[in-house]
Amino acid sequence: VTIGEKLKEIVNKYPDNEALSVPYQNYKVTYKEFWHQVEEVAKGILSYGVKKGDRVGIWSPNRFEWVLVQFATARIGVIMVNINPAYKAAELKYALKQSEVSLLLMSKGFRKTNYIEILGEVRSACIHLKNIVVIDHDWATMLGEGRKVSDEKLAEIESSLQFDDPINIQYTSGTTGFPKGATLSHHNILNNGFFIGERLKYTEKDKVCIPVPLYHCFGMVLANLACITHGSCMVLTGEAFDPEVVMQTVQDEKCTSLYGVPLMFIAELNHPDFDKFDFSSLRTGIMAGASCPESAMKAVREKMNMKDVGICYGMTETSPVSTQTFVDDSEYYRCATVGKVHPHLEIKIIDPETGNIVPRGTSGEFCTRGYSVMLKYWNNPEATASVIDEGRWMHTGDLAEMDENGYVKIVGRIKDLIIRGGENISPFEIEEFLHNHDKIKDIQVIGVPDDRYGEEVMAWVVLKDGESITEQELKEYCKGQIATYKIPRYWKFVSEFPTTVTGKVRKVEMREISARELG
Ligand code: ATP
Ligand code: MG
Repeated sequence: VTIGEKLKEIVNKYPDNEALSVPYQNYKVTYKEFWHQVEEVAKGILSYGVKKGDRVGIWSPNRFEWVLVQFATARIGVIMVNINPAYKAAELKYALKQSEVSLLLMSKGFRKTNYIEILGEVRSACIHLKNIVVIDHDWATMLGEGRKVSDEKLAEIESSLQFDDPINIQYTSGTTGFPKGATLSHHNILNNGFFIGERLKYTEKDKVCIPVPLYHCFGMVLANLACITHGSCMVLTGEAFDPEVVMQTVQDEKCTSLYGVPLMFIAELNHPDFDKFDFSSLRTGIMAGASCPESAMKAVREKMNMKDVGICYGMTETSPVSTQTFVDDSEYYRCATVGKVHPHLEIKIIDPETGNIVPRGTSGEFCTRGYSVMLKYWNNPEATASVIDEGRWMHTGDLAEMDENGYVKIVGRIKDLIIRGGENISPFEIEEFLHNHDKIKDIQVIGVPDDRYGEEVMAWVVLKDGESITEQELKEYCKGQIATYKIPRYWKFVSEFPTTVTGKVRKVEMREISARELG
């Protein structure tokens, strides 16, 4: 089925259930109202003359309009292009041109960035861009124009849609290089959202607190599509992430589920007012997007009342989730692995050199096959061919291990692997070890160029508030605990790491900075 068909089924089943709540915009709708508004937006978009398969960009931080646009574009088969709210001129131009966006829906700005000014700089270079709707000014006008579009016209378009039509281009978050446009179908993301919700045992009674950005699959699939396939309610917390507001929203809206990348949960747990909030409504949630420290998982379970919290692993190119934990997993599996394969998908872990499957417990490249694998990278057949092989296996570039019971651990990225004097070192192992240090709030380990060994190990450390420690003391702490060659040679104390807007650490940037500093 298509996303529109599935949404309609749920609307008929739970018309009066709350669908979307956005406290900071004073916005709250039932499924019935949501369906009606999605239709208005769909017609509004059609009024600009866009057709099935055309690209419509959405450039905005989290707002209710974003969610309406997501479902409106799916209902009329136009391809929604998610544009990162943190983009500046060069990146915006790249995305608009690369996917040939003809209609752009955008907000006025985000934080200190004025989107209208930025668009002004790049507009003349975007020859396909015909129309712009500034959500803050032109929303009502768009809906007004949409009223002139007939119900018959909408119905005709809806009945022409196929489940495997492309409906979404998501640029990968750019932790490893220039973003590529993963092109996804109804079938890809609708099914993935459904199975994510199944594993969390979502029902029409759940309310999911969504501090993660909607433009990323974490927001639009793990959150929005998991909700609408189960009649659950989506709750947004703000245009930008603020740990206090998130905790307040959980309490006020009585959310049952809370999402976040590890950095977000860590910020909530360390907030000075943490103890003032009531988490008794919470049951479950997801930590994902980057490697999830075991200590953070345990803290979330114990201190935030999220006893059913789970981890997902995946990537934009695979809709995104491939593996996920179960609500009744043991503490070990729940906190220290990324769970087991989703239904109807295949996974294998191979030696990247030979392509052979490695024995259980040995690390290799994680590959997956099935409905979740993207259609392609938009307008980039070479890049597509470099990750999807003839057998339709997606090669993720992530290093993983699988145990006897099929549970998977992600141990790093092939590109992040540190090779020191011929010895392969997984930064992940060192990070996990140092995470247990009392004074360390967060840690990232990278490889830096070295004349003698090719690469050396370097740690970037964020200390807990008010703590101090020397490099020497940290080295002492590692001695006898981890192999000597793995003990970071260089240490850098920082207050935060360079991140993407999703809160993912940009190791590429850290490597560049450190390589420069070390000369
Ligand atoms: P780019 O591909 O542009 O470099 P990116 O890979 O960070 O960016 P995403 O598709 O958002 O873009 O992220 C997917 C990646 O995030 C995975 O390939 C994996 O490396 C990492 N990841 C996701 N979930 C987990 C997890 N639970 N544990 C460890 N790593 C994870
Ligand atoms: Mg990637």
